[in-house]
Amino acid sequence: MTDTALLDPQAARAAASLARAEIDLDALRHNLRYLRRLAGNAELMGIVKANAYGHGVEHIVPVLRAEGVRVFAVANVPEAVRLREIGVTERILVFAAPLPDALPAYAAHDLEVTVSSRAVATAAVALGQPLRAHVKVDTGMGRIGLQPDEVADVMAMLRAAPHVEIVGLWTHFATADEPDTSFAETQIESFERVAAEVGEPLPPLHLANSGALVGFPDAVRGRAFVRVGGLLYGIPSSEVLAERTEVRPVMRLVTRVVHVKTVQPGETVSYGRTWTAEAPTRIATLAVGYGDGLPRGLSNRGEVGIGGRRYPIAGRVCMDFTMLDLGAPDGPGASVNVGDEAVVFGPGGPSAFEAAEAAGTISYALPCGLTARVPRVAVE
Ligand SMILES: *Cc1c(COP(=O)(O)O)cnc(C)c1O
Repeated sequence: MTDTALLDPQAARAAASLARAEIDLDALRHNLRYLRRLAGNAELMGIVKANAYGHGVEHIVPVLRAEGVRVFAVANVPEAVRLREIGVTERILVFAAPLPDALPAYAAHDLEVTVSSRAVATAAVALGQPLRAHVKVDTGMGRIGLQPDEVADVMAMLRAAPHVEIVGLWTHFATADEPDTSFAETQIESFERVAAEVGEPLPPLHLANSGALVGFPDAVRGRAFVRVGGLLYGIPSSEVLAERTEVRPVMRLVTRVVHVKTVQPGETVSYGRTWTAEAPTRIATLAVGYGDGLPRGLSNRGEVGIGGRRYPIAGRVCMDFTMLDLGAPDGPGASVNVGDEAVVFGPGGPSAFEAAEAAGTISYALPCGLTARVPRVAVE
């Protein structure tokens, strides 16, 4: 342990922890520059909700600020306040559908509000304090937002309120990362119809998430912003996106082998005895489990990388431990030893996309699901 680790409790904890998430800041810079090239004249909004998709806002946000990102977006007011606390002076859009009594907090922290319904617009008008608003239209995601035929009316209402500044009109895709593009195309058409109906002055428009930036560049390049999260972190959410992009994974989840043994035919591994040795087999136990955020759905399904090879998970993922099948005692797994580094996902192991497929979830859920027990450690 280094001297600084002894002085700084957080560093000491990180140094003592076997499971850690390495955050590759160079990969982040690479992804940002690459995505900005794709975005053309549209400005990239840095999506840092859910603690920057689990990567740690304290690592991600300073890099994005240094690279000149001028607008951030988060899911809710507490996340936005946290950004203000770590020194973010740039614009912050909050994606939440606010309850009407939440608006004073937006004014207090200089946050940009999502006008997700007529009721929110009414509350914004009644607030009587300066407020910047992005009007959200639901063109088919079916989550939050005005219906297309309500938008012109609500815009007129907001334009009549001198303290409300309309700084965005936006929508969100339901299927932008899927091979079948037809539904996304109907969403684009619906959004364009709405934009044509709202009259002048037309607010800045934005609709693209990661999937649309890659899948529909013509529809998004001419807009004010692209709202990119997943690809910024190098985690494509679908096979189509993985094939079409050149992003690098920002997170690598590693841990260490803490125990190795050989089991005999008929012996079982882990809770529920769902894995049984058919031949003498070397088993490695890793210091990582669902208490760290490893999906329990990887039980008997996922793989982990050690020394450039992949080994299947044997038996159920436990809260604090996960076991691997290293194969025959005289096979390649014989070289694995206590103390070896194991890559749960990221370079040297499966990609987050592969691990997510095995777990029956999406790639975003892996970094997002990491718990506070896992230190996020920046590497260059
Ligand atoms: C999370 C989110 C995004 C970013 O989506 P990615 O697929 O991660 O690029 C964009 N817009 C909204 C409204 C979101 O909630």
